[in-house]
Amino acid sequence: MNILENVDLRPFNTFGLNARARFFVELDDAAALPDVCALPCFNRAKVLWLGGGSNILLRGDYPGLVVKMAAKGIRETARSDGTVLVEAQAGEIWHDFVRHTVALGLNGLENLSLIPGTVGAAPVQNIGAYGVEVKDLIRSVRCFDLDTGRFVTLDNAQCRFAYRDSLFKQEGRGRYVITAVTFALSERFEAKTGYGDLAAVLAEICGGRPPCAADVAQAVCRIRRAKLPDPQVQGNVGSFFKNPVVVAERAGRLAAAFPDMPRYPQGDGSVKLAAGWLIDRCGLKGRTVGGAAVHDKQALVLVNTGRATAADVAALADEVCGQVRERFGVELEAEPGWV
Ligand SMILES: Cc1cc2nc3c(=O)[nH]c(=O)nc-3n(C[C@H](O)[C@H](O)[C@H](O)COP(=O)(O)OP(=O)(O)OC[C@H]3O[C@@H](n4cnc5c(N)ncnc54)[C@H](O)[C@@H]3O)c2cc1C
Repeated sequence: MNILENVDLRPFNTFGLNARARFFVELDDAAALPDVCALPCFNRAKVLWLGGGSNILLRGDYPGLVVKMAAKGIRETARSDGTVLVEAQAGEIWHDFVRHTVALGLNGLENLSLIPGTVGAAPVQNIGAYGVEVKDLIRSVRCFDLDTGRFVTLDNAQCRFAYRDSLFKQEGRGRYVITAVTFALSERFEAKTGYGDLAAVLAEICGGRPPCAADVAQAVCRIRRAKLPDPQVQGNVGSFFKNPVVVAERAGRLAAAFPDMPRYPQGDGSVKLAAGWLIDRCGLKGRTVGGAAVHDKQALVLVNTGRATAADVAALADEVCGQVRERFGVELEAEPGWV
């Protein structure tokens, strides 16, 4: 195992924050996890399990070991009654994996095209986009349990998925290292196009013929490229805030005061609001603090204009939360985790 020291983490976090790792190791075989835990530089309280770094914000130099989860591999594990189980290793690039399944004629993940990051991180915040959450396609998650030093398989219910949340972000944080994920995909295609402008873009692409999963993937990629800044060009972590969920009564009062406010009723009577709309209505598009800015077209995204420090990002995020709280009485919660 090649243990590097004092490694520049800028290429490993999509916001492009300047930080160094005291120790760094790239793990291309999950079976070596027990060896990682036996390293002299391993301290369970000071280890960062890293995927593509597209959902983290680095406060500063990392004093412990950073383990870049890089194991690759995709295999079909079972097929029956139109359902195909596919296992992917944690280090697979998410979008490449989605493309691979779509090319194989396996349906389900197409709406989640072009989300940055790795397969191993997808269950952590239960990634979602265009009306689909990955929890609906995950059959099980293979983990290394740091409590017991053994590999375990957690089924979907054990992962306690919720909106942008899971066991791995809560009690299981720091306990489970995700090594592989098994997805239940379908031989049959069922278009999910009810979200945003997906149906319209899909109709443009298909020009009258019935759509397939590859068309949906293409439509999603087209919309995302037009809407979201590319982290390769301008550092960002995608949506910086979760969409807040409020009780129906509060949503009703807000709707009376702001009739054009987008509202998405949830099954349980609560209502999801659009964080981007709330931020935009506070006039914050383009607002900068040092090198951090609210994107001038997409209010939900904070960007690195070049030399953002962690302090700039934290100050800007605080200002956004404060203004939304003051104007709407709604609390925003950051989506990426501070490290
Ligand atoms: C431009 C852009 C668009 C985005 N769009 C979306 C979107 O539409 N929907 C959405 O849900 N998210 C979106 N995101 C957020 C991000 O892409 C996802 O959260 C993604 O799953 C993060 O993957 P990652 O590999 O980069 O994780 P990282 O940032 O490396 O890690 C995220 C967290 O997961 C933990 N982790 C990573 N790998 C493992 C592992 N193997 N085992 C245990 N813990 C692990 C880390 O310790 C960290 O706490 C977007 C981000 C960007 C930059």
